[in-house]
Amino acid sequence: MSARRIDGKAAALDLRQRVAGEVAKLRSASGRAPGLAVVLVGEDPASAVYVRAKGKATIEAGMESFEHQLPADTPEADLLDLVDRLNADPAVDGILVQLPLPPQIDANKVITRIDPDKDVDGFNPVNAGRLAIGLHGFVPCTPLGCLKMLRAELGDLSGRSAVVIGRSNIVGKPLALLLLSDNCTVTIAHSRTRDLPAVVRRADIVVAAVGRAEMVKGDWIKPGACVIDVGINRVGPVEPGAKGRLVGDVDFASASEVAGAITPVPGGVGPMTIACLIRNTFVSAARREDFRYGKDL
Ligand code: NAD
Repeated sequence: MSARRIDGKAAALDLRQRVAGEVAKLRSASGRAPGLAVVLVGEDPASAVYVRAKGKATIEAGMESFEHQLPADTPEADLLDLVDRLNADPAVDGILVQLPLPPQIDANKVITRIDPDKDVDGFNPVNAGRLAIGLHGFVPCTPLGCLKMLRAELGDLSGRSAVVIGRSNIVGKPLALLLLSDNCTVTIAHSRTRDLPAVVRRADIVVAAVGRAEMVKGDWIKPGACVIDVGINRVGPVEPGAKGRLVGDVDFASASEVAGAITPVPGGVGPMTIACLIRNTFVSAARREDFRYGKDL
């Protein structure tokens, strides 16, 4: 058997186009474009690539992008001041502070300072709490993208057994809560889980968010299961200048022999994460302007 390959690029393009359509309507109704402020502290090359991609996608959706680049030695108080200014700025609907932050800055303090109603990354404790008790807020973009791909692939998720491998605050935990609210029977597996292959073998839905290259093997997968691979791991030559290649947390070759459907890496979860950020920024502006939009966004 060969699994269907879930095309995250196509799904992301579709979502971004639908958001752009809604943005155009919001602009003509309210006379302004939604705005996303992205803050980058320091020069981490991977973060710089993400920030550029986010800015480009924001502009392509017809929204305003405000980029703030701060030096690596920025004191915590200066970053908190910038967050306060962005919180108060009516042109800014979404605020994203790119992680990781340099060691002199407490990321939790910064995340907590962002106005929860502009927290399009969904990392503020208020939004984590809203998700936990089923209130409207902002859901972190990567888990939201995973949920959207699962719904598109499987339709109703009700009653399915789901195993989420990884319990981070940005992926594993929020995704487990989203699957629970879609009526899955959810297991969260992690580094202390005993006999992980046996736990994974019970699942109709497997989400791997671990950060270990090709850890999940084909013989862990229940035949026909839907596999979402969140992992992004660079493997290959370690010599300076050599690029290597990107792989996920799932051994794609063996898993796609058994699974019903599977996301590739790259081209799976990654593009949907950015599309969901654009979506959340539009939703923030729509809430502020009391603008009604299609429910399937
Ligand atoms: P994290 O390091 O915060 O969490 C990893 C989790 O994996 C932990 O909860 C840990 O308990 C679990 N774990 C570690 N070793 C394990 C093992 N041997 N068996 C079972 N569980 C184990 O990572 P994260 O931020 O959640 O990210 C996970 C992966 O997803 C990384 O590769 C990251 O690069 C990737 N990621 C991708 C996107 C995207 O847009 N595609 C977004 C965020 C993260």
